[in-house]
Amino acid sequence: MIEKDDYCEFCDGMARLALVSHTFERHGQRFEYKDIPALKCDKCGEVYFDGVALLKIEKEIAEFICSR
Ligand SMILES: [Zn+2]
Repeated sequence: MIEKDDYCEFCDGMARLALVSHTFERHGQRFEYKDIPALKCDKCGEVYFDGVALLKIEKEIAEFICSR
């Protein structure tokens, strides 16, 4: 889980805790998620999603696709 600010891997900025919106595309479908826990670099804008949150989203999308 992301719990605190961290250094950005791509620049010398700081990646700070944030809730971000992101659209995931799977099998030609778009899944829009809001308020995903993540770190966002205040310099280059790179977003690092929380691994646990990302797994949960991937699982939800997979279940949605399988249930059709
Ligand atoms: Zn950066």
